Amino acid sequence: MVHGDGLSFGRGSVHESVEVTDTVVRVGARTTAVRAACPGCGCWSGRIHGSYVRFPRDLPAVGKVVVVSLQVRRFVCADDCCPRKTFAEQVPGLTRRFGRRTERLRSTLVSVGLALAGRAGARMTDAFKATVSRNTLLRLIGSLPDPATVAQRVVGVDEYAQRKGRIYGTVLVDVATRRPIDLLPDREADTLAAGLAERPDIEVVCRDRAPFFTEGATRDALQALQVADRWHLWHNLGEAAEKHEQGHALAA
Ligand SMILES: [Zn+2]
Repeated sequence: MVHGDGLSFGRGSVHESVEVTDTVVRVGARTTAVRAACPGCGCWSGRIHGSYVRFPRDLPAVGKVVVVSLQVRRFVCADDCCPRKTFAEQVPGLTRRFGRRTERLRSTLVSVGLALAGRAGARMTDAFKATVSRNTLLRLIGSLPDPATVAQRVVGVDEYAQRKGRIYGTVLVDVATRRPIDLLPDREADTLAAGLAERPDIEVVCRDRAPFFTEGATRDALQALQVADRWHLWHNLGEAAEKHEQGHALAA
């Protein structure tokens, strides 16, 4: 057991001890704030009702799992009319209500989940000793607040492969953010037309070369101006230049 020197371990707490075993690092910490704000009514209170220990898991260190033994307190709400009566304090940036992980471990797992999603993400968390299941990863992503919806004025339309490339669907991509905004189940012109009709804010459609996209984008979404996708323009230009060069080579 190594005793700490009272260094800050997240705002509003100090770490007091570090215990290292073959597989786990246990950091003992306690909160230091004199008062805490009630999450129900916002009133500050310094009246302590009791204390208990939480064990949020933290980011791994030196190849070992890190667990914080965090002593937190329960306060009596200063407002007699508040239905909560008592409340547990949270350490900003470290804990949240009912959270079993520190906020930095949580945000790291969310990043892994967003980059790799289900199974691949779960395998990656295992690789850096913060193992969580595929379902936990998906739940963490699911609990993120929805991004603010902004009108997508310029939208790219392309196809995507489902089921090992045997069935194709249509994806609408917000060109500004590069995020997919909708997946349509097939490549039918009618489906695309209906999808575009539901989004009157779309002003410009960058389309793929497939002919049905042209038809769908013009039929019911007349407010949207079609422009060929820049990549495809370059691709076409490249092909044309190549043919031209080949023509010269053959003639020579
Ligand atoms: Zn309250």
